[in-house]
Amino acid sequence: MQSSKTCIQSTKTDRLYPCYDVIVIGAGIAGLICAAFLAKNWKKVLLVEQHSIPGGYCTSFKRKGFSFDAAVHHIGGCGKWSIVGRCFKTLGIEMDFYHLDPMDNLIFPKFSIEIPADLDNYIARLQERYPIERNEIKDFFNDFIKLYRATFNNEKSQILIDKYKNLTYSEMLNAFFKNDELKTVLSGQWGYIGLPPTQASAIGMCQMMVNYLKDGAFFPAGGTQEFANAISKKFIDFGGHVMLTSKARKILSNNNTVKGVKLEEGKEIAADVVVSNIDVRQTFFELLDGRIDSSFLRKIEEMKESCSFFLLYLGVGAGLDLSKLKRGFYHTSNDSSYTTDEWMYVSVPTKICPSLAPSNKQIISVVVYLKEGTYKTVNDWKSFKENMTLNTINRLESYIPNIKKHIEVKEAATPKTLERYTLNTNGAAYGWDVSVNQIWDNRLPHKTPIDNLYLAGHWTRPGPGICAVVSSGWNVANLIMKIGGN
Ligand SMILES: Cc1cc2nc3c(=O)[nH]c(=O)nc-3n(C[C@H](O)[C@H](O)[C@H](O)COP(=O)(O)OP(=O)(O)OC[C@H]3O[C@@H](n4cnc5c(N)ncnc54)[C@H](O)[C@@H]3O)c2cc1C
Repeated sequence: MQSSKTCIQSTKTDRLYPCYDVIVIGAGIAGLICAAFLAKNWKKVLLVEQHSIPGGYCTSFKRKGFSFDAAVHHIGGCGKWSIVGRCFKTLGIEMDFYHLDPMDNLIFPKFSIEIPADLDNYIARLQERYPIERNEIKDFFNDFIKLYRATFNNEKSQILIDKYKNLTYSEMLNAFFKNDELKTVLSGQWGYIGLPPTQASAIGMCQMMVNYLKDGAFFPAGGTQEFANAISKKFIDFGGHVMLTSKARKILSNNNTVKGVKLEEGKEIAADVVVSNIDVRQTFFELLDGRIDSSFLRKIEEMKESCSFFLLYLGVGAGLDLSKLKRGFYHTSNDSSYTTDEWMYVSVPTKICPSLAPSNKQIISVVVYLKEGTYKTVNDWKSFKENMTLNTINRLESYIPNIKKHIEVKEAATPKTLERYTLNTNGAAYGWDVSVNQIWDNRLPHKTPIDNLYLAGHWTRPGPGICAVVSSGWNVANLIMKIGGN
């Protein structure tokens, strides 16, 4: 597979307009998708991004010839009929993806299980392993898929939504199953929304899991930056303007209606509409001045951001045999409530896309779950990073003996790093927590109390993850063009 290796640059200053139809703040994936749809429909759009590259959490960085994906590891829904696939087709974006097969592995202290790329195979495997609950497994997945369609595709099956919208994922599983190990397995991917099943909303887990299990998990050829660059390039081809390394300092408003954006360096740019693809607290408590509906502000103050992670990026020499290392979740608990679980997610992206590293060398990427509240307890981030790096390499050593001898490049990121690069509060990986109180109708809507100010991305509906934020950005573009949701 070939990748384009496009480099995205800011629009030349003398080409910028004094006034835009829409300014999008933040070139995360939701911002990029929203901007691209608007530009495709002849809107004059300016995208303002504080980082020097587009993508938010979907970016990559290079060290000594190794190309590391900063955060995102794979993307759901890239098939022809799924959300990302449909979105790319509508925008005319062509991109090569590797389809991951198996989709994942779940490694527990007492057993492990492979999740096949095909959902019917997975169901058959579960039925074979847990034969007493074979009918319940079938019924569970029937409801799960219908629930997914009801929430994502606007096929409003209100009965199903009402049945599950107030349930945690554990409550949903308990309604179907008795076998604790089966419940453990079916919750084993909870890390993808960052909340254990006793707290995660059933709808949140459903949106994430069905995406991966039914539509597949995909890796963009050339790494995740290529995904962001492909959308950026299309936006520019449609006539969109980009300002990288440009932080929005204020959203200008008058009489409760947005008027434009003021940048950090002082420049003011007028716009009829502003889309915020950035942290919602920053949007309302730092960027906006003036009177805002106090009940709305109180709601934001009371909402809880999601967890964050520690990330380790290793470039290793050709001599290390990683053929048996499984990509997936390495859990520390066998228990279906996961209250003491400290999982890490390990992958070797060079097994999927060898060109990410110099010839025959490999990349090992590790995401480590950090318990709620970790950010607030750390005083010394440098020591935290050093300790976490050491502990994580020691943990890896039990699966990859002698790994230390083969490490050529070692980088790490803490919640502080994630926050610095994206300005997401406390390095929140998924915007707001995906709990019952913060998902579906309880997540902030796209429209805000300020006229012509919209929200797109993982702090708004439908939720976190690339597939969801693609849907979010697309929906906001449709709202602005007044043609309803996608
Ligand atoms: C470690 C990690 C691993 C993950 N893995 C996956 C995965 O494998 N698959 C998956 O689907 N999801 C994954 N996620 C979740 C997913 O990355 C996010 O939900 C999604 O990328 C959020 O996209 P977004 O468009 O909402 O914005 P963000 O990615 O948060 O981007 C916001 C953008 O706004 C910019 N910005 C902020 N403030 C300003 C300002 N004042 N002015 C200008 N620009 C500003 C930031 O620089 C940033 O570029 C992961 C997240 C993390 C942290």
